[in-house]
Amino acid sequence: KLHNTILELKGNIRVFCRVRPLLPEEGSGSEAPVISYPTSTEARDRGIDLIQSGQKYPFMFDQVFTHDASQHDVFVEISQLVQSALDGYKVCIFAYGQTGSGKTYTMMGRPESPEQKGLIPRSLEQIFQTSQNLSTQGWKYKMQVSMLEIYNETIRDLLSTNRGSLDITRVENGVPGKQYAIKHDANGNTYVSDLTIVDVCSTREVSSLLHQAAESRSVGKTQMNEQSSRSHFVFTLRISGVNESTEQQVHGVLNLIDLAGSERLSRSGATGDRLKETQAINKSLSCLADVIFALAKKEDHVPFRNSKLTYLLQPCLGGDSKTLMFVNISPDPLSVGESICSLRFAARVN
Ligand code: ADP
Ligand code: MG
Repeated sequence: KLHNTILELKGNIRVFCRVRPLLPEEGSGSEAPVISYPTSTEARDRGIDLIQSGQKYPFMFDQVFTHDASQHDVFVEISQLVQSALDGYKVCIFAYGQTGSGKTYTMMGRPESPEQKGLIPRSLEQIFQTSQNLSTQGWKYKMQVSMLEIYNETIRDLLSTNRGSLDITRVENGVPGKQYAIKHDANGNTYVSDLTIVDVCSTREVSSLLHQAAESRSVGKTQMNEQSSRSHFVFTLRISGVNESTEQQVHGVLNLIDLAGSERLSRSGATGDRLKETQAINKSLSCLADVIFALAKKEDHVPFRNSKLTYLLQPCLGGDSKTLMFVNISPDPLSVGESICSLRFAARVN
C-alpha cells in the first residue's frame, strides 16, 4: 500500500523528506541497503522506498532529498517560503525525526561553515539581505527574535539573562516564578509572558543570540539531566515592515522548530522519569500531527490546545499561514523500523 496521502493534502502544508548520509561508524557496507528510490517519472524526487525484512514500503512526499543533497540544495527549495515571511506571511518550518536523523543538521548545520550551515543561518542571511534591498523602495523593517525550549510541556526562555539557572530551579521545585505562560493578545496572536524578546538588525546579532541559546540549553542538560534531543527548540523571528512612501504595512513571522527526537519507547528502554518524558514527547508530537492534518483536511475543529507547542504556534498554523515539515531519516540499517515510523507519521491522513 502506498502511503502517499500527502499528495492529497491541500493548502499551505508541505512535507519534505531528507535522508542523511551514512556516518563512518555505521554499517559495514555489507548489509543490503534499506532505502531505494523509485525511478518512474511520477515518483522521481518525490518517492522513497524503505526495505525491511525483504518487504518494500513505498512513500511519497512533496520532495525527497537523498543523502547527497547539500545544505544549499535544500535551501534553494525553501527560500521562497522564507521570503514570504518578509511579505507578511506566518511561516513554520519543522524538523521531525528520531535522534541522530539530521534534524539539527538541517536546521542549524555548522553555522560557521559556508557549505554546511543550515536553514536557520541561511534564512536569516536571506531575510536581512532582502530587507536591505527593499529599503531602496521605502521599506523599513523591525525584526525581533525569541528562542525557547519546550521540555515536558514546560517552557524555558533560552535568552533569559538569568542564564536559565533560576528558571531551572523553579522548574525543579515546581514553583514557577516567571510563568512563561502562553497568552492571547487582542489581535488573536499568542505570546509567552516574561519571554525575552530581542530587537535585531543583522545576521551577526542573531548568531550571537543562537550561541547564547545553545549555552543555555547545555546548562539545562547537566542541571536537569536533560538532553537537548528531549525538547522542542523554537526559534521565532517577528518581522514588521512599513513602507514610508505608501504607508503599507506587513507583519510576518518565521518559526523554525527543531523537534524532540521521535524515537519510540521500546528502543529507548525507558523507565521511571525517562518513561514519563518519552510519553510527554510522543504525546506532543502526535498532537502536532493531529493539528497539521486537521488543518490539511480543513476540519472544523483543530485541537490546538492539546499541547504547548501547538497552542503557542496556533496563529502561525491556521489561516493563510504556511507550514513545511522536514521528516529526517537515517540510512542506518539498524534504524529502518524507526525510519518507517517517521515516514508513516508524516504520511498519516485517512
Ligand atoms: P538530530 O538533531 O536529528 O539528533 P543531527 O543533526 O545531530 O541529528 O545529526 C546526527 C549526525 O549526523 C551529526 O553528526 C550530523 O553532523 C550528521 N549529519 C546529519 N545530517 C547530515 C547531512 N545531511 N550531511 C552530513 N552529515 C549529517
Ligand atoms: Mg538535534
